[in-house]
Amino acid sequence: MKTREAPVSVTNACKLCSPLGAVLAFKGIEGAVCILHGSQGCATYIRRYMISHYKEPLDVASSSFSEDAAVFGGAASLMQGLDNLIKQYRPAVIGIATTCLSETIGDDVGRILQDYVKNRGAAKLPALINVSTPAYKGTHADGFLAAAKSAVEALAEKSEKENTLNLFPGMVSPEDIRHLKELLADFGIEYTLFPDYSETMDAGQWGGYKLIPPGGTPVKSLKNTANAALTIEFGISAQNGDSPGKFLEEKFGVKNVNMPLPIGVKATDNFIEKLEEISGATVPDKYLFERGRLIDSYVDAHKYVFGVKAAVFGDEDMVAAMAVFLDEIGMVPSICASGAPAGKLEKYLRSAITDFDGKGITVLEDADFEIIEGAVEKTSPAVMIGSSKGYKISRKLDIPLIRCAFPVHDRIGGARIALAGYTGTQKIFDSIVNSLLEARQDASPVGFSYM
Ligand code: SF4
Repeated sequence: MKTREAPVSVTNACKLCSPLGAVLAFKGIEGAVCILHGSQGCATYIRRYMISHYKEPLDVASSSFSEDAAVFGGAASLMQGLDNLIKQYRPAVIGIATTCLSETIGDDVGRILQDYVKNRGAAKLPALINVSTPAYKGTHADGFLAAAKSAVEALAEKSEKENTLNLFPGMVSPEDIRHLKELLADFGIEYTLFPDYSETMDAGQWGGYKLIPPGGTPVKSLKNTANAALTIEFGISAQNGDSPGKFLEEKFGVKNVNMPLPIGVKATDNFIEKLEEISGATVPDKYLFERGRLIDSYVDAHKYVFGVKAAVFGDEDMVAAMAVFLDEIGMVPSICASGAPAGKLEKYLRSAITDFDGKGITVLEDADFEIIEGAVEKTSPAVMIGSSKGYKISRKLDIPLIRCAFPVHDRIGGARIALAGYTGTQKIFDSIVNSLLEARQDASPVGFSYM
C-alpha cells in the first residue's frame, strides 16, 4: 500500500476548511447572513465551493484583512464589515466565523464583539453568533458542529418545559432534511430541526434576487431548544465531544441521544422506533411499505452485491453510517477513509461491524487522497462511494464512483442526494447495484441486455 511513512505534507486532503462548515450551519438559521473574519480569498473560495455543489446563490461577507489588519489585528475591519452587513441586509442573525489568518494572529473576536455591542447598542443589533474555526486544526464537519453549538449557546433560553424534540442531523443534504421533517410531521412530533438549510440551499425559482433567501430554523425555535423534552443528534462526530445536544444536556438538562445517520434498514428502524417512543404513535403505513420495498430489493439484488468490496470516503459521519449499511447488505467496506483526525471512525466501526478484522476492512483516518489512492490500488474495490473529489482515482483506476455527500462538483443535484431513511437508502442501494451491473455489463465479452 502507498502510504506516507513520515508525512511532511498533505496531498489533496479528504476534508475541507472549517469556516465552510460554519457557513453551511449559519445558512440553516432563518434571516441569517454570515461574515468571515480574515482575508477575502477565504470567503471567495467557500462561496465558489458551495455554489458549485448546491447550485444556489450564496453571499458570504468578509472583514477583508489588509496588511495592517494582518499585523495589528482586524477589530476595525470586523466592526466596519458588521455595520455594512446590517445596513445592506437587515439580518435577524449574523454568524461570524474566523479564518486561519485571524486565528493565527490571535484576534479575540469575542472581545471585539463585546466592544461592538457596547458601542452600537445591543437593542439596535441583530443576534451575533461567533464561532472559532481554525481550519488548520479541524475539518469542515468540525466547523459545522462548532457553529451549530455556538448558535444554540447564543440563543437557547430557559422558559416553560415543552414536549418537543430537538433534531440535530449534522451535515446532511437538503433532501435528507426535507425527508426528516416529513417523518417527524407524520409522527405528529413538535420539533426543532437545526440547522435547516433545506430551502436556503435548495430553493425554487424566485421572481427577483433575494438578499436573504427564505427558510431556515427560526430564532424563536432555537431559543426553545432549551425547553425540549429530548435531543437526537446524528453522527459519530457529535459523540463524546462538543455538540449542541451535549451543551443543552449540560446546561438545561435536555436529555441527549446520539444515533448514527439513518442509512440502512437497521439504522432507520432504530430511529423510527425512537420516534414511536417519543410520539406514542404507530408507524404510518407509508414507512412500512417503504421498508418492505427496501428489504425486497435487498433480496432481489443480494447475488450481485454479496462479498463485493467498496471504498467509502468523506465525512466520518457519512463514512461510518455507509460502511455499516454496506455490511448490512453483504458488501465489504474494504476501505473506510476520512480526513477527520484519528480516533473515532475505527473505534466506531469495530463496535458496529461484527467480525471486523475477519472482513479485511482498512480504516484510514486523517487521510488524504494520495493515501486513499494507494489503498484503492492495493485492494481493488468494485466501487467507490463518496464525494466528487474521488473522481481522479476513479478515472485512473477505472472504478465506478457513486457520488454522494459533499461536495459533488461535477454533476447536478448535489443538494438532492438522499441517503436518510428507507427511501434514501433505497436510492443509494439502487445506485450501487446498478453501478455494479453496468460495470459487469460493459466488461462482458458478449454483452447482455437481460439478467
Ligand atoms: S486560509 Fe484557512 S480558512 Fe481560508 S480558505 Fe484556506 S483553509 Fe479555509
